[in-house]
Amino acid sequence: MKCNEVNSKLIFYLEKELLKDEMLQMENHLSECSSCSNRLVLLQSAMDVIEKEKSLQPNPYFVSKTMNRFKEEQRTANQPVFTRLLIPVFVSILFVLAIGSGIFMGANFASDTENIQQSNLIDPYFNEIDNETIELFFLNDGYHE
Ligand SMILES: [Zn+2]
Repeated sequence: MKCNEVNSKLIFYLEKELLKDEMLQMENHLSECSSCSNRLVLLQSAMDVIEKEKSLQPNPYFVSKTMNRFKEEQRTANQPVFTRLLIPVFVSILFVLAIGSGIFMGANFASDTENIQQSNLIDPYFNEIDNETIELFFLNDGYHE
């Protein structure tokens, strides 16, 4: 067995997932080759760390999930405060604006004759343009036929 082959199978050797024949070949190589046996020791210690991590955090996914849930709960817990404060303010602003604009418009159109005259001056002007274009459209259409 070559070093490359042994290195690629070290993890399986540690997990004892190799065939008996391969396990023996690995053992033979590791007993003779110091660099591969050193790698085995390093890998073994790394595996130990991973195993320790696993035992400390039985389910890392569960930890991240609970963290997300906690964050979500914080977000939703903050939201009612936000809406409780802002929505009434927003509604009252709209309400004041609606009443204010209603009074403003009512006052303008009911009592301010100058505005009515202005609107009468402007509106027929626009209506005339509209009528003219429509008339021209029909006239042109008539001439074409
Ligand atoms: Zn080797």
